Amino acid sequence: MSGGCLPLEYDIEFRYITPIEPGETTPFNRAATRWQHLLVGDVPDIDVVLEADGCGAGSPEVDETIDDLVIFVRLQAIDGVGGVLGAAGPCVVRPSSHLPALGIMFFDTADLDYLQASGLLQTVIVHEMGHVLGFGTIWEDEELLVGAGGPDPYFIGPGAISAFHSIGGDAYQGDPVPVENTGGVGTRDGHWRESVFDNELMTGWINEGSNPLSVVTVASMGDLGYEVDLTAADSYTLLSPLRAAVEGPPTGLHLVRDIWQGPIYEVGADGRVRLLRRR
Ligand SMILES: [Zn+2]
Repeated sequence: MSGGCLPLEYDIEFRYITPIEPGETTPFNRAATRWQHLLVGDVPDIDVVLEADGCGAGSPEVDETIDDLVIFVRLQAIDGVGGVLGAAGPCVVRPSSHLPALGIMFFDTADLDYLQASGLLQTVIVHEMGHVLGFGTIWEDEELLVGAGGPDPYFIGPGAISAFHSIGGDAYQGDPVPVENTGGVGTRDGHWRESVFDNELMTGWINEGSNPLSVVTVASMGDLGYEVDLTAADSYTLLSPLRAAVEGPPTGLHLVRDIWQGPIYEVGADGRVRLLRRR
């Protein structure tokens, strides 16, 4: 099955804390494999001690060594069809690097059938995993986000800026890389800007059809501290050098409030966790 692939160095383990049918885990496993081809280096093992409910309601107690990432998955009723489809983010991050060790993803069971039928479920899982891995969720802790809460937030990681220029961003008039400035809490300040990036995977709106995971997203993960393979990104260029001037509201499926708003803990030298940030 490996088809000559190199061994996958970055380990991701899902722990399903609500019932799931065996066949339902397939899109999760495929989404994990996608990230494992982008994040190509091991990160240090970390001892994590966290009490029950510390990573969202119903999360079990944790007292173990984690290599490299454990994600709790909840499939639960949230708000019926539409509205919030799911949310995700890290709960426990490593000391100083802030690379996540433990996180949560939850999905609204009312929306899973639609996502499955429309072929978007795996795409949405890859997107949500991005938030658990730190996309849009540890930017401020790493001092990589400027202008949060204002009209023009932007990401200042040098890798992402370079990648942005490589896909046609030279023509963009503002400060690169533009981050979403609309869409409310859980969308703005945590995604690429839809008016510039359109169907890129890590905007706050999922499009029908293709949602490429661009070299800018991969490079931004490198800016967070991951070892990344830029060549494994999906093919993607900004559709027009003047994408920044696109008019009108975003189209596609809005991932409403999809950044989990729970607290983030950092592991201390004694292995115990302390509050890093209460979102
Ligand atoms: Zn999102």
